[in-house]
Amino acid sequence: MTSFKVLIVGGGIAGPAAAYWLSGIPGAEITLIERSSKMRASGQQIDLRVAGVDMIKKMGIEPAVRAASCREPGTQIIDVQGRVKAFFPAAKHGAARQSLTSEYEIMRADLVKILYKLTDDCPNVKHVYNTMLESFVQDDESKDDGKVHVTLSGGRKEDFDLVLAADGTGSKTRKSMLGPDAPDPRRRTGGYIAYFSIPSQPDDSDRLTVCWLPGPRMARGLMTRKDCPDLLRIYMMIGQRDEAIDAALQSGELSALKKAIADVYEGGAWQTKRFMEALLHAPEADDLYCTPFEEVSLPVGSWSKGRVVLLGDAAHSGTANGYGTSWGLIGPYLLAGELASLYEDDKPLPTAAIVQAAKQYEKVFRPAALAGHGESNWTESMFAPRTALGIAILNWIAGWAAYFRVDKRFGIDGAIGKWKLPNYPALDKYYQSG
Ligand SMILES: Cc1cc2nc3c(=O)[nH]c(=O)nc-3n(C[C@H](O)[C@H](O)[C@H](O)COP(=O)(O)OP(=O)(O)OC[C@H]3O[C@@H](n4cnc5c(N)ncnc54)[C@H](O)[C@@H]3O)c2cc1C
Repeated sequence: MTSFKVLIVGGGIAGPAAAYWLSGIPGAEITLIERSSKMRASGQQIDLRVAGVDMIKKMGIEPAVRAASCREPGTQIIDVQGRVKAFFPAAKHGAARQSLTSEYEIMRADLVKILYKLTDDCPNVKHVYNTMLESFVQDDESKDDGKVHVTLSGGRKEDFDLVLAADGTGSKTRKSMLGPDAPDPRRRTGGYIAYFSIPSQPDDSDRLTVCWLPGPRMARGLMTRKDCPDLLRIYMMIGQRDEAIDAALQSGELSALKKAIADVYEGGAWQTKRFMEALLHAPEADDLYCTPFEEVSLPVGSWSKGRVVLLGDAAHSGTANGYGTSWGLIGPYLLAGELASLYEDDKPLPTAAIVQAAKQYEKVFRPAALAGHGESNWTESMFAPRTALGIAILNWIAGWAAYFRVDKRFGIDGAIGKWKLPNYPALDKYYQSG
């Protein structure tokens, strides 16, 4: 059979999911490149929601995800004295609607490992580390058997039938695909979210705990989670841009980033002092990860060009909106399903069919993946209260919402919750478990 060579750029969530779904396509020979020197199994707790839950079931990894899940009992809102103002229990097993704490909360590292394992034993999938895509050119779309001519880091050149950009929100592959004159599709929607770990203390809660801190300079929130006995995970939500944080992110210097964040939290109430001291001095906090709140919104029809296609955050990032992981798993399935639907007698797909499948994947997925994008700077409006009074009102509203179980009655997923995963019989036939 003629080979179908696929290059996947980026080994986060969407990359290994794409390797899995495309590995069954006739003749597929997949190379997944990751710029890090090893599997990037890191990050904090992420959740799977809405169709993302159906997706892990379809991939056959639901039992593995469930076994590795964090079993967080729920979400509590506290005031700066540590008093609980609202509590939303986690969604129960098989609940139709997910709560603030999803039934499928899992450490990102565990999910990445589960996803890589899916193709570990596939003879037609290669995982290559320490490697980046330097540049590419592709043949004209009128050429039926066209290729993407790729140069990888180190100067190695290779031709591929399909290149998938799963290299995250700041995707360099996307930039090359769109061309030098295209505007950057990233839009800042507020400040930053940052996470790090510290040694835990016996009275740290195992609930997701949210505390808003009053402060004149900018809105600040703190959250804690506890997925294991020894560590407490600290999440910081910073409402506005900050020059020192931007400079530290630009330079990539961890100590500068720690200092810039600690400065923003200077004088904060509740356990801010303990958390910031640990941020600055505890080795556990070296896992600090900070990212601006931003959205990737590309014009209609531009998730792909010829034989190059964007997946995951590279196509539709919406930082910390709660759906990034679910969407990162679903996009590759849709693309593989659309490709599989065009195969005839397992003959190689001509360029026109690949272009058609890529456009159809965007058409099917765009409404869900971009729901809520561009509406407002939601993080800024969410963190609006900076005063003690404003925060007290917000906590009071949360208390009533918890009392009436608003999360259980209506779910928190709104219209997105109604979006259903399409079926692709043509793809299922390549997978025993599909
Ligand atoms: C280290 C890390 C920690 C994270 N932690 C959290 C978290 O705690 N909570 C949360 O909600 N979200 C987190 N995210 C983001 C979350 O994983 C994504 O929003 C979502 O799952 C979509 O996944 P993705 O595969 O599109 O992008 P990502 O998961 O961001 O994966 C992109 C991958 O591409 C690689 N890459 C980037 N550029 C290149 C290149 N030029 N060549 C080769 N490889 C490249 C990156 O190293 C990364 O592995 C984290 C992402 C990373 C990379």
